[in-house]
Amino acid sequence: MPEGPASTLSSMIIAHLDLDAFFAAVEELEDPTLRTKPLVVGGDPHGRGVVATANYEARKFGIHSAMSCAEALRRCRHVVFVRPRHSLYREYSQHVWETVRGVVPTVERTGLDEGYLDVGEVAATFLQARKLAEAVQTSVRAATSLTCAIGVSTSKVVAKIASDHRKPGGLTVVPEGHEASFLSPFDIRRLPGVGPKAEQRLVAGGVETIGSLAALPEGELRRLLPGSVGRMLQERARGIDPRGLDLQTQRISISVENTFERDLTDRAQLHAELRRMAERLSQHLRDTGRTGRTVSTKLRYTDFSIRTRSTSLRVGIDDGEQIGELACGLLDRALTDRPGALRLVGVGVSGLASHRQLALV
Ligand SMILES: [Mg+2]
Repeated sequence: MPEGPASTLSSMIIAHLDLDAFFAAVEELEDPTLRTKPLVVGGDPHGRGVVATANYEARKFGIHSAMSCAEALRRCRHVVFVRPRHSLYREYSQHVWETVRGVVPTVERTGLDEGYLDVGEVAATFLQARKLAEAVQTSVRAATSLTCAIGVSTSKVVAKIASDHRKPGGLTVVPEGHEASFLSPFDIRRLPGVGPKAEQRLVAGGVETIGSLAALPEGELRRLLPGSVGRMLQERARGIDPRGLDLQTQRISISVENTFERDLTDRAQLHAELRRMAERLSQHLRDTGRTGRTVSTKLRYTDFSIRTRSTSLRVGIDDGEQIGELACGLLDRALTDRPGALRLVGVGVSGLASHRQLALV
């Protein structure tokens, strides 16, 4: 982050935008008859498929993302399953972010359906920021028929929790000075940076809300979460988060993986899978104007154990064939180290850099 006077940090105004049930919302636009039905975008309910997105109708049955499709079907016998169409979602997503940039030019996309907006660049007060966020919601809806929830505050951590506060379609503004009291009642696991392990330790120590983490005496904090992580999380719990927008490396990594219907041993089939995934990654990199320097391959064996192998290059690439070639080589190496049938393979690219940013320098 560039150096600047301390006042620029305290006067940041950041928004977090999150499209509502994005994949499902796109499918509903493509086929309006789905609108009134419980809908799951995901894998095969009779295989090992997982829910990618459930629409709000499906959520009434307790269906949510990351749940197995088989479980979704148990919860609602008449749920409609649709396979994900990623290239379609990318098109909608691009249209959304172009529209957003028409209102707030500086944006850090953290996914197809979410990202941070540098509202402070175009609004001086929280009142203006609210008007701007409303304008973003209106323009996105007008341009794409998609709805989004937005949170606005002085930091990423508060904006993120605020955007999740009134879903779907809500707007939550937490002005300077109100961050800690806004965060206070939320469950500790809602705080970005609190993983399952930290959550377990905190809850075991009686810390169940963000507010109780914020108020935890130093000795107690050190006992529950030793090291700098505890201090950092406590700061966040108090609404203090100095992270600005990350415009250089927009995301740490992107990856695609596939769980097979049947366990696979055939090398040619595995290579074909990897090459297909590499093409998808490549498409995504090109769509978002980025390259990656590290390619990795992930293997899950039939006993559920996981191996990953990666290789780094001197320069970033976005070419599907190149990524596929490297991914296949990594798979071969891993299978030489440990032969066996696989139930899943994946390809990832990290060390991402944006062309656009580079072009500006
Ligand atoms: Mg979303």
